Amino acid sequence: MISKILQNRIKKLKKKHNIPAGQITYQDLSKPAKPFFSKRYRVTGKPDYIIKNNNYFIPIEVKTGIYKETKKNHILQLAAYCHLLEENFQRFVPYGLLVYSDKSKHKIPFDPKIRFEFESTIKDMRNTMRTGTITRNHNDLFKCRNCSMYQYCDFKL
Ligand code: SF4
Repeated sequence: MISKILQNRIKKLKKKHNIPAGQITYQDLSKPAKPFFSKRYRVTGKPDYIIKNNNYFIPIEVKTGIYKETKKNHILQLAAYCHLLEENFQRFVPYGLLVYSDKSKHKIPFDPKIRFEFESTIKDMRNTMRTGTITRNHNDLFKCRNCSMYQYCDFKL
């Protein structure tokens, strides 16, 4: 049972971020929510929101910044959330939603292609960690400045 104050806060946030209709089943507003964990891929994480729509759980990731098109790393992050929800709720996740600061909304199908890319990326990351051949794979200053690892990263721009 959530309080009236929290309900109003959720309503405002839904409006601000252009979150589609559907019951929010999880959010990180009242207290930090526990991240999900995947035993299969040994990754952890939590989307900004999860809505329940037609009996499906849909992860939503809100990204600050205005982008002409969806970014690959955002899509893969969302794919990770789709997988985390599938594994933890034991229920098929058909798609996830990316929401950008300009309120544009992108429905990203969790289809075989993106599942394969997600799995390949995890394998590549594991391989890189094992062999110690870590490098920066972009020249995007904005990306580094907004990265949560910025203060720890030896490769930042
Ligand atoms: S700070 Fe490091 S981890 Fe973050 S985007 Fe830049 S290079 Fe990548």
